[in-house]
Amino acid sequence: MEAAYLKAYKNGFLQERIKKALSILKCCVLCPRTCKVNRLEGDRGVCRTGRYAKVSSYGPHFGEEDPLVGTGGSGTVFFTHCNLLCVFCQNYAISHRGEGFEVAPDGLATIMIQLQERGAHNINFVTPSHVVPHILEALPRAIEDGLNVPLVYNCGGYESIKTLALLDGIFDIYMPDLKFADDTIAQRYCNAPDYPERAKAAVKEMHRQVGDLIINERGIAERGLLVRHLVMPEGKAGTYELMGFLAGEVSKNTYVNIMNQYRPCGDAAKFRELSRSITSEEYHEAIQDANAAGITRLDQRMQRGVFL
Ligand code: SF4
Repeated sequence: MEAAYLKAYKNGFLQERIKKALSILKCCVLCPRTCKVNRLEGDRGVCRTGRYAKVSSYGPHFGEEDPLVGTGGSGTVFFTHCNLLCVFCQNYAISHRGEGFEVAPDGLATIMIQLQERGAHNINFVTPSHVVPHILEALPRAIEDGLNVPLVYNCGGYESIKTLALLDGIFDIYMPDLKFADDTIAQRYCNAPDYPERAKAAVKEMHRQVGDLIINERGIAERGLLVRHLVMPEGKAGTYELMGFLAGEVSKNTYVNIMNQYRPCGDAAKFRELSRSITSEEYHEAIQDANAAGITRLDQRMQRGVFL
């Protein structure tokens, strides 16, 4: 299957999308924070990112879901800063403290090509929501240098539908988190009470664009939606409700990774209920919630017992 952005490049609509995306930076409303700062002039909003993206690290990653990893790994590019800023973030130094280096578009294109040359099956942009124009801007150069693997949009789920529309026909794989079902909890941990509404709308739009996950005969993801859900202590993530949403309003065949790796990181210790890992009972209950909702396609590692 040809990567979607190759057609967008040939048809000329990639250039139109780049122009539109860059123009948003003048009064930034790329994400639901709607900071309205002029990032082209170096002003910063919640994500503290200006004209150029910052990258904290990149390389083939073998810890992602099997269909992304295959034999060559997933070509991850970890962006610095974040538009969501969860208090318990496992990458706190990167997302909150801003560790990383600035990259111009050509630099980002070179990173993509290097990852492909090292055998990565995809380019997996981690925390991309605040740097969508920067990613798009780097693509023509990467395409001219031979990029042809699919792009993965690996995000926290706090997205603007208008920004996602700019990615239609360019990204083949969406991998959003679905973190919280409850507004009060999203406010408490991310200062984003509209997170549940925004994330659900985003997942529906992503599914509209790319459909259920398609995995080829070699076990590699080619196109589609993959949802991640981190189980939280005391049921704070709202697993039952979110799995019901996916099964009822998106697709029972949604590929879902229910993750058990919650650990108190960042500022989590300031919140009593977040100061511990989850129990095996809490994790099993989350799996049962997904099964009860009718989700038929849980990540294979659960079935092999890796998470148990
Ligand atoms: S991308 Fe950054 S500056 Fe733009 S609206 Fe979101 S948080 Fe604010």
